[in-house]
Amino acid sequence: MKNNIIKKIPQNILNLLKEIGKAAEDFGCQAYAAGGFVRDLFLDTENLDIDILIEKNAAQFAKKLAKKLAKKKGWKVKTHKKFGTASLIFSDNFKIDITSARSESYKTPAALPEVKAGLLSEDIMRRDFTINTILINITPKNFGEITDIFSGVKDIKNRTVKALHDISFIDDPTRILRGIKFATRFNFTIDPHTQDLIKEAVNKNVFASLSGKRFFTELKYILKEKEPVLPLTKLFKYNIIQTIASDIASDKNAFFFLKQIKEVILWYKKDDYLKWALYFMGLINNCDKKASQDICRHFEIPHNERILFCDMRLEAKSLLKNIEKNKMEYKKISVFKTELILYMMASLKSPLKKEKLFKAYKKAKNTKVIINGNHLIKLGVKPGPIFSEITNKLFEAKIKEEISTKEDEIDYIKKYFLHNGH
Ligand code: ATP
Repeated sequence: MKNNIIKKIPQNILNLLKEIGKAAEDFGCQAYAAGGFVRDLFLDTENLDIDILIEKNAAQFAKKLAKKLAKKKGWKVKTHKKFGTASLIFSDNFKIDITSARSESYKTPAALPEVKAGLLSEDIMRRDFTINTILINITPKNFGEITDIFSGVKDIKNRTVKALHDISFIDDPTRILRGIKFATRFNFTIDPHTQDLIKEAVNKNVFASLSGKRFFTELKYILKEKEPVLPLTKLFKYNIIQTIASDIASDKNAFFFLKQIKEVILWYKKDDYLKWALYFMGLINNCDKKASQDICRHFEIPHNERILFCDMRLEAKSLLKNIEKNKMEYKKISVFKTELILYMMASLKSPLKKEKLFKAYKKAKNTKVIINGNHLIKLGVKPGPIFSEITNKLFEAKIKEEISTKEDEIDYIKKYFLHNGH
């Protein structure tokens, strides 16, 4: 098993791991590859998010490593004193995180744990699921040796997500979201006892003592998954979303709508927008302004995103009624972000109307009025609300393709505005 796993590591990464391992040995400790990188090696899934674990102070180790190797190879070392961790950053921005083995204790359920330096075994004990506890030794003498205290390899083979102990979700309810994320991402099942622990924790209302911000951080990871609809469905199945935000509808329509969003995403193909934000809008689709604001406040969502979720989203929704009646408001959609247009498309039932909206959006985005305030003053128009009235009319005329050039715009202004005494 040892050699098979090592064979799966890309050569350049293998070389890096060997160098770090050698440096750790010189520093007087063993070093291990840990977490998702190791899990994904067993799953044959590429993961370049590498975490190294050592039993000594990671920040001091990284500094030594910096002196020894970094200058020579152009590696940068960033230490995070507060967490006793460090990151090695390479010229192509590729990054390896180094952490010291830690032990954690939870003073109160769902609060952030007290963390202190600990043994390797203690570090493994504080982890979320057995599949994330496997270690690969990277120091020269023991290179490739696997430490698998919780039989994570067996659980990967059996495609099972299993918690390490019975109070895992009481200690940290975010693990529930992580477990659902891993199970759906890898098409694993959550082991029956772990399922019971989740249900028990939800019944005990563990999420009540978890901050909205921490909940949302994990929810956002789910929304960023390749396939977020399935884990979202599970969050409803376990009654989690409803406890956190009762206004989020969990009925069949809500899922139908999330699936519509997925279809629009697949159709659009490009990734020049925030996919997670689009799914989040799908999640709060039935919430009115007040409910959306309450949810955003609870999740501590930043101001600019709140504008998108609470104001712009509802404006987009109100435009849909006119679009259904074949009335397109070009000016309004011209300032919309892609997320909003895709959200609107997901809401429209008719494929023809979806297409019409998207075409209109592209046209509105490409339509620019050339004449500006200075031009208008030169033409003798007095500054005031008339400026935006003129610009809007020019925009409409351009959309209708009645005019196109700057000269056309000036003629249009002269014809429709200047003879009116402005
Ligand atoms: P992903 O592929 O989603 O990034 P990952 O396993 O690499 O998955 P990270 O969030 O990068 O996830 O965490 C790295 C490791 O830290 C995990 O594999 C797990 O062992 C541990 N970990 C992360 N979050 C928790 C948590 N809330 N409780 C316990 N252990 C955790």
